[in-house]
Amino acid sequence: MKKEHDVIVAGGGLAGCCAAIAAARQNKKVLLIERYGFFGGMATAALVNPFMKYNTFDEKGNIIPVNNTGIFKEILETLDRRNSLFISFKKHDRPKYLAAGEVDKRAVPKRTFNEEVLKKILDEMTEDAGVDVLFHSFIFKAKKRGQKLTSVSTVGKAGVREHKAMFFIDATGDADVCALAGCGFDIGRDGDGKCQPMTLCFRLGNADPEKVEQMVYDIEKREKLNAKYKEMQKSGEIKNQRENILVFPHVGNGVVHFNSTRIIDRNPLEPQELSRAENEARKQADELVKFFRENAEGFENCILLQTAPQIGIRESRRIKGRYKLTDEDIVKCVKFYDSIARGCYGIDIHNPTGGGTVIKHISEGGYYTIPYRSIIPEKINNLLVAGRPISASHEAHSAMRVMPICANIGEAAGIAASICTDMRIKTKDMDIEKLHEILRKVARLY
Ligand SMILES: Cc1cc2nc3c(=O)[nH]c(=O)nc-3n(C[C@H](O)[C@H](O)[C@H](O)COP(=O)(O)OP(=O)(O)OC[C@H]3O[C@@H](n4cnc5c(N)ncnc54)[C@H](O)[C@@H]3O)c2cc1C
Repeated sequence: MKKEHDVIVAGGGLAGCCAAIAAARQNKKVLLIERYGFFGGMATAALVNPFMKYNTFDEKGNIIPVNNTGIFKEILETLDRRNSLFISFKKHDRPKYLAAGEVDKRAVPKRTFNEEVLKKILDEMTEDAGVDVLFHSFIFKAKKRGQKLTSVSTVGKAGVREHKAMFFIDATGDADVCALAGCGFDIGRDGDGKCQPMTLCFRLGNADPEKVEQMVYDIEKREKLNAKYKEMQKSGEIKNQRENILVFPHVGNGVVHFNSTRIIDRNPLEPQELSRAENEARKQADELVKFFRENAEGFENCILLQTAPQIGIRESRRIKGRYKLTDEDIVKCVKFYDSIARGCYGIDIHNPTGGGTVIKHISEGGYYTIPYRSIIPEKINNLLVAGRPISASHEAHSAMRVMPICANIGEAAGIAASICTDMRIKTKDMDIEKLHEILRKVARLY
């Protein structure tokens, strides 16, 4: 590919796709580079499902859109039109403001999606926007001149290729480009640097659909099963350290999605550690299949349909940016002057060293914001970060990392990149008014 691009987006997860589409819709020549042969990142390659909470409700039960705006909303609507978006939870938690006996009339949002259809939708949306796509290309090098990034290099079957652009967006999930360009980053929690555990998602099929419903929605039945699981954990028959079984109904009758393996104490950036993690996680999946066949009613003849092509990585590098988002910003629902995205998903820290999960919900009706300053890495003037590795504490990251928020951050990064290239300005000199003006136009919010 000889053409020089205005913007190169590294990584085609939800953040990267939204960034590339947004910049291309602002008439920029965009190249989107992805190591796999399909888009979606964690949503497709790691089978992560469902989309976590993307709207909230006011006191009358009216929907307040939080992330279902802009390109992410288009994705949701296209999935829905293609009969590929489903309700994951039958009910909401009952809000405190309802009186006893009063019926909860709030619409239950659809969050479970068919990832095969998502792959196709992302192909179509990038194609329609005129994005140049480079699959099967791994970025391993970044070249800079002073504080300017000039190119990234990829390796593929045909060898090494150098790609130049005026502007770059790092949406690799692991801030690979930032690290290659020498920008600073943090890893894991303060103190010991340990990251949230990795999880290999997998699917069981051929279960009795009625019993699947009961297992997912009947709290008593689930607790009984969890008690048996804990008993077997104690006796050493179950090695998985996760405190309980986390399952969701999935696309198709009698299919169950498991987000329930837990790999702790492994570095998600080291190939050797990742190799062990993948191996351990498949053992844990096998353990759970056996457990379900032997202990869960209706699962006697279940089969392992699929483990994800790659283990899911919740947390790795987080850049050192111009503002570090904190857990207080999340919990207190801070509204930043330079907000580029919103979130209503709370703190959700899976224990990096064993069992247990710390959860702090955001009250219904509330939302926090993501500041533009958190996507600006230090040292390089023509590079932004989109998605998971923005500048945030370990705690704040546990909330903002979910797919709907990453998608919104991606869209904003794409628009910011187009402003920087049009105005020939450094990322830190962003005209926030202008950014908000375009975001209001395309996402109808902010
Ligand atoms: C086990 C697990 C469960 C989760 N549960 C939920 C959930 O229920 N709901 C929810 O909303 N969120 C959930 N999340 C969080 C969410 O899935 C991710 O944080 C989010 O998808 C990150 O999106 P992203 O686009 O920033 O990064 P990613 O999805 O990681 O995308 C990065 C992309 O860049 C590519 N890439 C990486 N490095 C390179 C390179 N060097 N060269 C070229 N390409 C590269 C990758 O292949 C990938 O396509 C979960 C995450 C995990 C791991």
